[in-house]
Amino acid sequence: MKKLYLIGNHKMNMSLNELEPYFDNLAEIASTSENVVGVCVPYVYLNMAKGMLEGSKVLYGAQNMHYKDNGAYTGEISAHMLNDFNCDLVIIGHSERRAYYNETDEDVNLKIKKALEEGITPILCFGETLDERNGNMAHSVVERQIMGALADLEYEEVSRIIFAYEPVWAIGTGVSATSEQAEEMISFAKRLIADEYGVKTSIVLYGGSLKPSNAQDILSKPSIDGGLIGGACLKIKDFEEIINTKVE
Ligand code: PEP
Repeated sequence: MKKLYLIGNHKMNMSLNELEPYFDNLAEIASTSENVVGVCVPYVYLNMAKGMLEGSKVLYGAQNMHYKDNGAYTGEISAHMLNDFNCDLVIIGHSERRAYYNETDEDVNLKIKKALEEGITPILCFGETLDERNGNMAHSVVERQIMGALADLEYEEVSRIIFAYEPVWAIGTGVSATSEQAEEMISFAKRLIADEYGVKTSIVLYGGSLKPSNAQDILSKPSIDGGLIGGACLKIKDFEEIINTKVE
């Protein structure tokens, strides 16, 4: 049985009241799962995640961080601060951050380095827009994003990263990539990481409208190690169905 990584991204959703039963349920679901379960929540709920998920099988963390340790960066959060809440994970370079907050490959590289330095596992997101795919640029964009994010990193550091291929056109649209498209791009990314950094066993997830109805098909592809799940992780029943996916 393949051990899948199934990590939820709450984005800017859910409330304190909703999270209490949610975390309880998630810890329970993860306790009997063979898969690795994680969840990335808004910063303000990290204290609650620490209280309710630490010691459970659920990994938890944030959706972004700054690459500086401290300073005059109003509204920002450092890796040290995430470590105050014993975060396991931090999403870096999500397409919404790249699109709405102008995050560049250089920013992503600095954040990846800082997260690794602080012992937090970064989930490095990459993926092309629809225009880029239609213009036959998907592979060059993905290569640029991965190489930019990994600039100056060593083998050991690269081997600690979780990657997530998230085609922008599939995120939050309800229309996922086909399992063939996801497999093709993820195997391309894995070859690139192996050729450039010697890391032959990188973990690469698929993200983009993953839901109970398509999870089995997508997650059973040989190169796909799991999923980063947005919308469908907000309903615990849907997330549970995805977490319970079993593939050979
Ligand atoms: C995401 O934002 O990481 C994501 C995969 O979202 P969704 O599942 O809603 O497409």
